[in-house]
Amino acid sequence: MHSSLAADLADLPALLQATRDYAVSVLAGLDERPVAPTPAEVPAATLPADGAGTAGALAEFRRRWAPGFSGSAGPRYLGFVTGGTTPAALAGDWLTGAFDQNASNRSGSSAAALEDETVSWLRDMFGLGPDHSGAFVSGATMSNLVGLAIGRQWIGEQRGVDVARQGVAALGEITVLSGTAHSSIFKALSMLGLGRDALKPVATLPDREAVDVAALAEALKELNGRPAIVVANAGTVNTVDFDDLRAILTLRERYPFWLHVDAAFGGFAALSPDHAHLVDGLAEADSVCVDLHKWLNVPYDAAVQFTRHRDLQVSVFQNAAAYLPPVSGDPDFFHLTPENSRRLRALTAWFTLTAYGVAGHREIVTGAIDAAHRLGERLTTIPGVQLLAPVRLNVVCFSVPTDIPSLVHAIADSGETFLTPTVYRGRPALRAAFSNWRTAEADADRVHTLLRKLLA
Ligand SMILES: *Cc1c(COP(=O)(O)O)cnc(C)c1O
Repeated sequence: MHSSLAADLADLPALLQATRDYAVSVLAGLDERPVAPTPAEVPAATLPADGAGTAGALAEFRRRWAPGFSGSAGPRYLGFVTGGTTPAALAGDWLTGAFDQNASNRSGSSAAALEDETVSWLRDMFGLGPDHSGAFVSGATMSNLVGLAIGRQWIGEQRGVDVARQGVAALGEITVLSGTAHSSIFKALSMLGLGRDALKPVATLPDREAVDVAALAEALKELNGRPAIVVANAGTVNTVDFDDLRAILTLRERYPFWLHVDAAFGGFAALSPDHAHLVDGLAEADSVCVDLHKWLNVPYDAAVQFTRHRDLQVSVFQNAAAYLPPVSGDPDFFHLTPENSRRLRALTAWFTLTAYGVAGHREIVTGAIDAAHRLGERLTTIPGVQLLAPVRLNVVCFSVPTDIPSLVHAIADSGETFLTPTVYRGRPALRAAFSNWRTAEADADRVHTLLRKLLA
């Protein structure tokens, strides 16, 4: 063993304690840390020939890199859709590293069974049915990829083609229909060999991002009985609009299609009594994507994918080798997702669900919704600011009477908050997305005060 490793092993408790103390100071200082600094350039260092040990690495990290890290774990990072990390999720993350389980298979460890339990809890929390099984993946993009890959296999089955064996070329053209699909859907279609152009946009309702179900019916009818994939959106990024899943489901009586629902963060509407109706019908989707590093407030990276067609999933992802266990009735995770070896991502979710339960997570969700409504109401008192859509859930989408890129810079430079720009119906706009467990209404007020000052 190299002398640095031997020294670290001997000193392990003190080194972990020092790391823990530093982490505690970072979290205690979260409120003072600039939310999204423009990072100063860090001069390159050369590959260390002789290591500095953990204490040396910690010192180097603190000196060189930590100052430029964002406050994205804190309550006022409102860019994209960015959750934080609950105390229990952080504890779970530390233990994930400490135990370093390979949750790819079920032999020699109960780690995979913990993942099964966590997936079943999440399934219940999102109102899915007992016929939905699932697995952890790295994010909603991968969850969408897995759902669409299973849908691709299903289409093949309808046409007498085994896509997993014969490849996409044997499949012929595939039509994917969606109202306001997330960019990751296009990326997934590219990766799956279906092509970004496979997605045919369907009209949305007037002044909405939700799909016009009559237009969807028309598009399906034009396929003359050819099976398609429909991507329904449960929570669009700009205005958090929801497709009418029940209405889409009734189209199944007339047309054959695979229903994939991208509920990356909108799925959490199921936890709010006033909003659960928005995801009514989710239980009947063929595949469902829910992100966890957003609104569940577990650290990056974690999402879950659900499907009611595990047999097709195994056809796509099975990984047979002489040294690996064969596919069984309870398939190992390396037969279910793109990864082979994989970290026990479920442990962070297991910890936070065990620690706070549905009730605790419901309050995270309703708290974010309340904060978004509060900011939305206050913003309308600033002259020239206009909400581009009603606040439907946890995002405020608004236009401002000034140049957006310079305002985004000024907001970031203030250190107070971070908002991301977008374009909604051709209009440059800003988004404020709430999903952090620490956010209080006072944070919404601070954002409002800042914008009022910057727009004065
Ligand atoms: C965030 C998001 C994604 C992509 O999620 P990643 O975790 O970044 O891969 C996909 N769909 C929707 C609706 C999202 O909000």
